[in-house]
This record gives sequence, structure tokens and C-alpha cells, in this order.
Amino acid sequence: MPQTATGRRLLSLYRRLFRYFGPQHWWPARSRFEVIVGAILTQNTAWINVERAITALRAARLLNPRGIDSVPQKHLATLIRPAGYYNMKAERLKHVTRFLLTHYGGNVRRMRRTALPELREELLEISGVGEETADSILLYAGDRPTFVVDAYTRRVLERHGMIAANTRYGEIQRLFMTHLPTDATLFNEYHALLVAVGKTYCRRTPNCDSCPLRYDLPEGSPFLSRPE
Ligand code: SF4
Repeated sequence: MPQTATGRRLLSLYRRLFRYFGPQHWWPARSRFEVIVGAILTQNTAWINVERAITALRAARLLNPRGIDSVPQKHLATLIRPAGYYNMKAERLKHVTRFLLTHYGGNVRRMRRTALPELREELLEISGVGEETADSILLYAGDRPTFVVDAYTRRVLERHGMIAANTRYGEIQRLFMTHLPTDATLFNEYHALLVAVGKTYCRRTPNCDSCPLRYDLPEGSPFLSRPE
């Protein structure tokens, strides 16, 4: 694949992050189905709350498609309460599980039978599954080479002048997928590393002076500290 200037820059950012933070071992889950559950539960909440909800599901022996499908929705909502928006998320878990059971017999690996664009469309048709959730499921549960874009990705690229404010999800995703090799392992690690830098340095008020990506800030960036 011929490398573009953008591709070289994206790879350079990736290498810096990898050297600095090391492998992130995403997604933290014991099964592919647990990844899917986590992808729904993590919507609008911190991961620590997702872990509590997952622990409750595991303790109740419901962390499998049949379990989620058969448990009454109200009880499911009570169990996942720590993850917030629990009524809505219980309904979403039910929807995604039903989809998995109906189309793939509850076996996440069987999703591989379907071509990536088609499977992505199928996931997006499930109520409550947006682009970020669909791509997280595809990449982290299905090992499919699609790039996950989240608020941290957007923030880092915007601050580095690589995208404009309000750039659409699909455009940001294309930036990575057009200029980088189509490689699920690379996409897996890259997204996880962007989350790491976002949580550590690229917060609402960025700490660029200590950040491994400082070297890439464009000249004149308002985020570069000025000499005294
Ligand atoms: S903290 Fe600063 S240097 Fe680091 S990614 Fe954000 S904008 Fe870039």
C-alpha cells in the first residue's frame, strides 16, 4: 500500500503512543459476547461502572446470549444499574442479543460469515447501536478491520489540525482506513492508545507539555506553551 503523508503521520503518532504507553490489551473481556455487552454498557459512562455491571451479570450467570435473552428485562436493568441509563441499556442488550441469536445462533464467531460492510449495516439497524458501538463490536468482538472513532479520537485529531470541528464520524474513520494498512490488530491497538492519551493528557484542559504527541502539534498551536 503506497504511503501518503497523512499515512506516515498517523503511523508516527501510533508508534509514539505505542512506545510510550505499551500494548493496551483491549478489549478487557473473557469472551466475545462479553465484548458486545461491554460495548453497549459503556455508552455514556466510565469503564469502572461497566465493570461493576458485568460483574453482577457474571455473578448471576447471565453473561451469555441465552441468559440475557431469557432474563426479564426489569431484572436485567436492576443488575446493570451501576452502568447508568439501565432501563435503556437493558433494552439495547436485549435487542443486540436477539439479533445475535436470530442471525448467528448466538455465536459471535459466526458473524464472520457476513462481509464487513453488510454486517456493519445489520448492526446499525439494531435499535440503540450507533456507529461507535457497531465498530467496537466489529473490531473487538469480531476482529474485523474497522476503525473505532470516539470523542478522544476526535479531540486529538482536531487539536493537531488534522480535522475540522464537527467532522462527521465516517470522515474521521475514512482518514484512518484510507491512509493506514487494513489491519485489525493495528486498528485495535491504535484506538486503545488514543483512549489512553485522551484519558491521561488530552483531557478537556490538555497537558501537552508532558504528552508524547507534543512533537506533532502544528506550529503556532494554542496548545504549545510559550517561552517565558
Ligand atoms: S495533550 Fe496536547 S499534545 Fe497531547 S494529544 Fe492532546 S493536544 Fe496533542
